[in-house]
Amino acid sequence: MSISYFVAALRCPVCGNVSPADTSTRMQTHLANDPELLAVGDGPDITMGSFQQSYLTAWLPDGKRFSILQRWHCPHCQSANWAEVTFDDWAIASIEDVKLTRATLDRMSFIDDEIYESYEAATGESKFLDGKRRPDYLERLRAHLAEA
Ligand SMILES: [Zn+2]
Repeated sequence: MSISYFVAALRCPVCGNVSPADTSTRMQTHLANDPELLAVGDGPDITMGSFQQSYLTAWLPDGKRFSILQRWHCPHCQSANWAEVTFDDWAIASIEDVKLTRATLDRMSFIDDEIYESYEAATGESKFLDGKRRPDYLERLRAHLAEA
């Protein structure tokens, strides 16, 4: 699998600057077979399996509209932030910056594995339990987040 990038202008919740819609936000994804820049309106050649291989699955969508929680980095202040990438009928419908809250987390079908870093920061505990990644990380992270 190749490295592609989601690209979008995103407002940083830390410094307030708006990013350029290019790879400087470092929204890497392994979704596409060939390296691509993936912007709103694009419909890469992918299947539900592509999402399951590239992201942690929170819940499998039963329709064609669903969201990914994707990490991005602010090119101005370097803070690590979150974006919601929404697919509708296999095309990218929107890419928006979001706060990591319970409401946000509950909307996501697929989650960037960088979430483990937020997990450790929010809960103060290791992502590992008995040498394996915690199976209950989502519930435990959720309990530490603000409602909205
Ligand atoms: Zn910033």
